[in-house]
Amino acid sequence: MTTFALDDASVFLVIGSGAAGGTLSNELAQKGHNVVCLEAGPRLDFGDIVNDEAEMFGKLTWLDRRMATGKPDPNFPVWGCKTVGGTTMHWTAACPRLQPHEMRARTTYGALPDTTLVDWPVTPEEIAPWYDKAEIRMGVSGKHGMPFLPPGNNFKVLEAGARKCGYSDIDTHNMAINSIDHDDRPACRQLGFCTSGCAVGAKWSTLYTEIPKAEATGRFELRPEAMATGIGLDAQGRVESVTYLSKAKSYTQKVRAVAVAGNVVETTRLLLNNRSERFPNGLANSSGLVGRNYMRHFTIQVMGVMPGKVHFYRQTHLAGVVRDERHHRPERGFAGGFLISTVPFTPEILAKNMLIGGWGRDLTSVLDKYDQLAGMLLTGEDPPQLSNGITLHPTERDGYGLPVPVIHYEDHPNTIAMKTYAWSRGRRIYESLGAEQVIEMGDFIPATHNMGTARMGTDPKASVCTPFGQTHDVPNLFVSDGSLFPTSGGCNPTLTIVALVLRQAEHIDGQLRTGAL
Ligand SMILES: Cc1cc2nc3c(=O)[nH]c(=O)nc-3n(C[C@H](O)[C@H](O)[C@H](O)COP(=O)(O)OP(=O)(O)OC[C@H]3O[C@@H](n4cnc5c(N)ncnc54)[C@H](O)[C@@H]3O)c2cc1C
Ligand code: SF4
Repeated sequence: MTTFALDDASVFLVIGSGAAGGTLSNELAQKGHNVVCLEAGPRLDFGDIVNDEAEMFGKLTWLDRRMATGKPDPNFPVWGCKTVGGTTMHWTAACPRLQPHEMRARTTYGALPDTTLVDWPVTPEEIAPWYDKAEIRMGVSGKHGMPFLPPGNNFKVLEAGARKCGYSDIDTHNMAINSIDHDDRPACRQLGFCTSGCAVGAKWSTLYTEIPKAEATGRFELRPEAMATGIGLDAQGRVESVTYLSKAKSYTQKVRAVAVAGNVVETTRLLLNNRSERFPNGLANSSGLVGRNYMRHFTIQVMGVMPGKVHFYRQTHLAGVVRDERHHRPERGFAGGFLISTVPFTPEILAKNMLIGGWGRDLTSVLDKYDQLAGMLLTGEDPPQLSNGITLHPTERDGYGLPVPVIHYEDHPNTIAMKTYAWSRGRRIYESLGAEQVIEMGDFIPATHNMGTARMGTDPKASVCTPFGQTHDVPNLFVSDGSLFPTSGGCNPTLTIVALVLRQAEHIDGQLRTGAL
């Protein structure tokens, strides 16, 4: 096992081992650089992963204290993981690409009131080859020769109803889940426990893929249960060290450069909490934009009690998609669009969340027909608003003694209009097949897609990072996660995060080689 000394200043240090940090670590190690990855959570192995949602929720989820104002659940506003592999342990692995119009949101949608819509500083043409590389690396189904996953019953119901409603862009989705044995991992067994971590490793998670590959280079050290708390600068304003807590002891690692990939809330908290004379409002925050423009897609559901058995839990969660509503068609009464995918829920989750306000017969009549349920998830674009953001609580502290992050979020009127329309489209799909009952469910899932709080751009006054995720203020400090997104698009973000990370790694490699870093 490779280890680096705390005073080894050759180290490129990555904070977080999820989709962004795990991939960046591996990519830089493959390119010949010394990499240390700090991960706040523990390292599990296959023996720890069981097909049990409740048990795995406890083992994987980030449960340290967070607070919220506005719309989110005040106690659990954001759903992510604290474990090696990050939220690629919980994720359901849908891998759509952003569409060109979504990367040109300001140009396409115009000046949507009370938003900070911009065009991406990376063009669709620039990102296209990186999407290819990311899809190949993650083994995305339906791309580059990886077959689509087989259709489960939930998908068959969705497809039949969607076709009746005139939709046609439908398939079992592009999923980072093996449809055949690939990359020394088996094909998906269709067991339906994707959010429990995938006990067989068919689902791409950095725990099974990027991290062991990085370790095999001999140039990488993973430090689990190591929570980064401080980023130290030298007299020239460059990062020289990172301080972290591990089992209640504090350590300081010398570094050559740093990438923060803690998933939006933690990345923001780390930057905001590192204040100095040079950066009184938080590290790399001369623009005042760290923590602002926070975005999260809406994820609402429609459930149908179908005339026959569906057994919607017996397949990969999101392997089924209808893309026809993803386009920008302002005649629907809103800008941007949304995806319709399959989704199952356990009886417990349904009982807890589905019939909020429902009780007695209303609730039990649906649960009695659990086997007849079909379910869909509607995921839509969220425009950036300056007022949605993440701040630090002035007095409340978590178990590390760090200020508790406070997430403030309110839906934009565009989001409310899109959701209302999306529910009606979802309802129509199941009604077209003679559903006995259709239930529209609210936005009860805590934010799984988090974006926007350190947006990239070319103007240091209007963005935090360059188009390569290098902070404008501190040349050897990078941000590598969804914080970079200037707008959210109408689809799951992780493929785009990985594509940007691969592009960032090439940029960092060039800078390390020329000595610019
Ligand atoms: C239930 C669920 C389903 C999802 N399904 C999909 C999907 O189908 N498709 C999709 O595109 N996306 C999906 N997502 C979102 C996806 O998981 C995230 O977009 C992705 O994992 C983000 O990658 P990341 O590297 O930024 O963060 P993460 O993967 O969350 O990794 C961040 C890591 O950093 C660590 N960390 C944080 N702060 C520190 C610190 N200070 N020091 C050390 N370590 C730290 C954390 O412990 C964590 O392990 C889903 C999410 C959830 C919760
Ligand atoms: S359905 Fe496939 S991806 Fe999901 S947990 Fe089972 S084997 Fe893994």
